[in-house]
Amino acid sequence: MEIELNESQRAIHDAVVQLCAEFDDDYWMKCEEEARFPEEYYRLMAQNGWLGITMPEEVGGANLGVTEAAVMMHACTMSGGGYSAASALHINLFGPHSIVVHGTPEQKERFLKPLVLGQEKACFGVTEPDAGLDTTSIKTFAKKTAGGYVVNGRKMWTSTGQEADKILLLTRTTPKEKCSRPTDGMTLFYTDLDRRKVEVKRIKKMGRNAVDSNAVFIEDLFIPEEDRIGDEGQGFKYILDSLNPERILVGIEAIGFGRDALRRAANYARDRVVFGRPIGQNQGIQHPLAEAWTQLEAAYWMCMRAAYLYDNGKPCGAEANAAKFLSGRAVFDTATKAVMTHGGMGYAREFHVERLFRESILPRIAPVTEQLILSFIAERVLDLPKSY
Ligand SMILES: Cc1cc2nc3c(=O)[nH]c(=O)nc-3n(C[C@H](O)[C@H](O)[C@H](O)COP(=O)(O)OP(=O)(O)OC[C@H]3O[C@@H](n4cnc5c(N)ncnc54)[C@H](O)[C@@H]3O)c2cc1C
Repeated sequence: MEIELNESQRAIHDAVVQLCAEFDDDYWMKCEEEARFPEEYYRLMAQNGWLGITMPEEVGGANLGVTEAAVMMHACTMSGGGYSAASALHINLFGPHSIVVHGTPEQKERFLKPLVLGQEKACFGVTEPDAGLDTTSIKTFAKKTAGGYVVNGRKMWTSTGQEADKILLLTRTTPKEKCSRPTDGMTLFYTDLDRRKVEVKRIKKMGRNAVDSNAVFIEDLFIPEEDRIGDEGQGFKYILDSLNPERILVGIEAIGFGRDALRRAANYARDRVVFGRPIGQNQGIQHPLAEAWTQLEAAYWMCMRAAYLYDNGKPCGAEANAAKFLSGRAVFDTATKAVMTHGGMGYAREFHVERLFRESILPRIAPVTEQLILSFIAERVLDLPKSY
């Protein structure tokens, strides 16, 4: 057993840290304050090939695993950009997975190449206002017509919808009540985000404001047959394939910016002098930060364990969920302690921990909540009755 990054993984970490260093705290604060997509950062990452880290070589990708993607995303978020630095790229790494596995060679060429090159951006339309976590209850409907489908419905929280050229869209093609299983009758598309037929309305939110999230209203959107991914009615299964990598990546992204918050807290604790000595000399300041380190470290290796299992073709549902759960808790706890360590200045924008703090609750909520993770583990690992 070897529990350590190998040489090429360390090289990925170093290269990404070096690139991210071009974007300082002021850059990220400005993107956040102006609610502006970090286009320069996104471009630099695209130019250096990082958007294709998990994509097949034939579409210009590096064909590396979730482990390498995790190393990359951890390096991005620990560099000051927080969750915004992750969400600006994240969809490229796990979103197109269904296309990689179930797309035709023509679709891979047409859809994946522009994503890898940074010529097109995509968004991920799964969540709906009236379905929530109960995904099989989505109502967005794709009705068969000559040469394709006409889609009507609503999506909620669709991130990067303001920027995206394309949408990965989960729809129903058969009403749930007419299916033998609730997971049947759903169809996946990857298609143009045609703004004449799709209204994308930005949601004002607590944090991670450099990357938009939206309410999406779809009215009579025509989707050609050639934009359907895989078989009609199988979309839910295709989406499931990408859920474990997404959880692992969200987990490791959280750890990255948790470590950034911890570093800032320790720096402040060393420098700030009160009662004639650095506040970091008090155990009341030291212990919470040391505890945060232990939580981040444990969650980091849980993410890596889940990534290892995934990349080696082993079942990893419980581990990926546990990794996301532990990471969400660890980053929230760490960011809270980082603000507290700064005292009043923790509340000021100048020290950046308030930005990280506002972002730190998000990995506890999305893409799946803590309750649903625990319900999954209770059912699948502990063999308790299904509760949802
Ligand atoms: C900033 C942000 C960005 C997002 N980006 C995207 C995106 O790009 N694409 C996309 O498709 N979605 C996106 N989401 C949506 C996100 O995945 C959902 O918000 C999340 O899955 C929770 O769903 P919900 O908000 O509908 O909560 P609900 O389903 O309404 O749940 C509300 C609460 O009830 C609890 N609950 C519900 N049922 C049960 C049960 N049976 N047992 C116990 N507890 C239960 C939940 O755990 C939760 O705490 C984003 C969300 C946010 C906040």
